[in-house]
Amino acid sequence: MVPPAGSLGPLPPVERVRPGLWSIPVPLPNNSLRYVFVYVFETDRGPYLVDAGWNTDDAFAALSAGMRQLGSDVAEVQGVMVTHIHPDHYGLAGRVRDVSGAWIALHPADAALIHDRYEEPADLLERVGAMLRRMGAPPEELATLQNASMPVLPLVESVRPDVLVEDGDKPEVPGFDLAAIWTPGHSPGHLCFWEAGFDLMLSGDHVLPRITPNIPFHPQAGADPLGDYLRSLDKLEAYDADEVLPAHEHRFVGLSERLAQLRAHHEARFAEVVAAIRDGSTSAWDIASRMGWSRPWNRIEGFMRRAAVGEALAHLRALEHRGLVREVQGEPSRWELLEAGS
Ligand SMILES: [Zn+2]
Ligand SMILES: [Zn+2]
Repeated sequence: MVPPAGSLGPLPPVERVRPGLWSIPVPLPNNSLRYVFVYVFETDRGPYLVDAGWNTDDAFAALSAGMRQLGSDVAEVQGVMVTHIHPDHYGLAGRVRDVSGAWIALHPADAALIHDRYEEPADLLERVGAMLRRMGAPPEELATLQNASMPVLPLVESVRPDVLVEDGDKPEVPGFDLAAIWTPGHSPGHLCFWEAGFDLMLSGDHVLPRITPNIPFHPQAGADPLGDYLRSLDKLEAYDADEVLPAHEHRFVGLSERLAQLRAHHEARFAEVVAAIRDGSTSAWDIASRMGWSRPWNRIEGFMRRAAVGEALAHLRALEHRGLVREVQGEPSRWELLEAGS
């Protein structure tokens, strides 16, 4: 259950994670996640950040105060490595660059989405509407769901990255041994960062300790975002992390166990989808409404509801790629089990 915003207690403190590496919680207004962790690498040349926060005065003030607490200043930042383009990670990066001249780094698959998502979203909104109709969204909910992400637009300063970071690239952070790991799924260009000196995994939103990140299908998500996500979980198995540094919730030990839990979660969701189809649900909307969520379906509204139907559709697409279901075109389209899945 998500408590209402405002009753959530104080933010965690600014903490020294390792010598020269800090975490600063940056607040998210009206959001049950409450904060995003900005990780700060202190170097001889100045500080380097992983993620930035969303573009609000409160967030900028918290980041500035946190930087001063560790004896530095936002104006000294040399580079901002953004794990992905969601507003809570990328939104404030432009403002940091404005005051510091820092470079902003992003994976090219997320950089490619900036224009349609943040600069001229009209066409993307059309495509979201078409997707929702094809899923079988009730007409009276269509406009609300179609526009559900519009309120976050002011929380993003839409800026182009100065550096494109691909899988295996080593961003220039003097004194640290940092490598990018491309982990598509939660967003097509999501990056984790491995710090080989301390064996730390900076996991962004890809792996969080308690909640499962939303893996939605939508017009910018690629053909099979959940399949991508599961492969991206496998990719992290190669790393024996001393500790995991996620963008939300709290740091934790036990990367491999958490990867197994996340895989098991999605396997259980696949079973729910197959059961819903077997029980007679055919539209993606109807299938979504029969899946288990953190609160009753009729209390999931607005952006949460769009995230939920996007998540249901991601499971359907992944099952389609596994050859277990197929989509019969129509409005709404009909989902059927294939031999192997029935
Ligand atoms: Zn995210
Ligand atoms: Zn996030």
